[in-house]
Amino acid sequence: MLNIILFGPPGAGKGTQSAFLVEHFGLVHLSTGDIFRANIKGETELGKLAQSYMDQGKLVPDDVTISMLESEVDNHPTAKGFIFDGFPRTTAQADALDAFLNGRNAPIACMLALDVDEDELKARLLARAETSGRPDDANPTVIQKRIDVYNAETAPVAGHYAEQGKYTGVDGIGTIEEITERLCAAVPSE
Ligand code: ADP
Repeated sequence: MLNIILFGPPGAGKGTQSAFLVEHFGLVHLSTGDIFRANIKGETELGKLAQSYMDQGKLVPDDVTISMLESEVDNHPTAKGFIFDGFPRTTAQADALDAFLNGRNAPIACMLALDVDEDELKARLLARAETSGRPDDANPTVIQKRIDVYNAETAPVAGHYAEQGKYTGVDGIGTIEEITERLCAAVPSE
């Protein structure tokens, strides 16, 4: 199994790059943001709960997010591996993911972290709002809140994987192809 965490702040390009990595390595893409948005669209109970946090730029509570993610993994028993996009976003989520995957003898191989400065992130999110229809991209106050939450709660997750020797930072500025090449080169060979 090849399990990769694609990490980085909102607007860093995780969704875009996931599509290329999925293709290249034959993995299953699990984006917690996409799963929450699908639940909002389907008007499920989980969607209603998630929306109340997402609209404010806050994180959905760990217990809800962790159990959702674990059942998504279990729904793909034949996967060659996963790209985790937008998860783990807290150290509690990272601990839960490690315990879960280690219990299945399929630990995280690496965390690839896209590095993009804050001004560029804000510009990208506002530009994405034009086409994404995402309310959390269209509002500068919500964008700032997401970046603040990232710095306070999510950035420490990088240290968690750096301690395990699994962290690689990748320059997230450049063309989509250039960044894909940098990411592919950073994936350890099995
Ligand atoms: P972005 O990376 O651009 O912020 P995502 O689609 O990954 O977008 O996430 C959108 C929102 O979904 C987040 O702001 C948060 O409210 C919620 N969310 C996504 N992943 C998680 C997670 N792992 N834990 C808690 N909340 C999450």
